Amino acid sequence: MADVSIHALRKAYGALEVIHGVDVEIPDGEFVVLVGPSGCGKSTLLRMIAGLEGINGGTISIGGQVVNNLPPAERNIAMVFQNYALYPHKTVAANMGFALKMQKMDKPRIEEEVNRAADILGLKPYLGRYPRELSGGQRQRVAMGRAIVRNPKVFLFDEPLSNLDAKLRVQMRAEIRELHQRLSTTTVYVTHDQIEAMTMADRIVVMRDGHISQIGAPLELYDRPANAFVAGFIGSPS
Ligand code: ADP
Ligand code: MG
Repeated sequence: MADVSIHALRKAYGALEVIHGVDVEIPDGEFVVLVGPSGCGKSTLLRMIAGLEGINGGTISIGGQVVNNLPPAERNIAMVFQNYALYPHKTVAANMGFALKMQKMDKPRIEEEVNRAADILGLKPYLGRYPRELSGGQRQRVAMGRAIVRNPKVFLFDEPLSNLDAKLRVQMRAEIRELHQRLSTTTVYVTHDQIEAMTMADRIVVMRDGHISQIGAPLELYDRPANAFVAGFIGSPS
């Protein structure tokens, strides 16, 4: 497990700066939801933590280690996206074990890790199936399984539920929280959905135009919004 510490972080695409000096401290084991309107920089911030985007200033530390110059594979993080492409011609077990196979982990250990993750996610009966034989929710669980098998110190989620229908979305919110209860892995969860933020977060980070508008527990933001933007954003229905 690990804390994530972000200090004075900046990002520009060419001449356009999109992250303007962001500071966030995420204690070990916390479930933080990063919320804000489309285009405010949520994905960019997450991708910088993952090491998928370079940074133009500031520092990111994971577990006390500055990771600015570490490649993604050495950051002990696992990311779950909205468009989690599963390999259609691989079974659930092979999909979940693929990253470990690439790391040259031996077969029995891969099987052990895949079984452990399948157990956590209720996927044991589906390990031999193919993605096309699964429901949307089951596919989402396989995508999470691919992250869990790697035993990351930090989970990063980027709008993982936005392709699911409303009912399944509510169910998966609860499942992701249960997963966190069980593993206590530090989590940064990105969404533009304020209901998702209010119901899932230990603390919410509200972003606007590449800045942080406010950080606080859901009720704190609801009761004492720091400005009109937070009040409008948190208070309005999705
Ligand atoms: P969010 O995830 O909150 O919707 P993003 O992090 O995707 O926002 O984008 C933040 C800003 O950066 C937007 O203005 C977007 O157009 C811009 N941006 C994102 N990726 C790139 C890129 N690869 N090249 C240029 N601009 C980008
Ligand atoms: Mg995004």
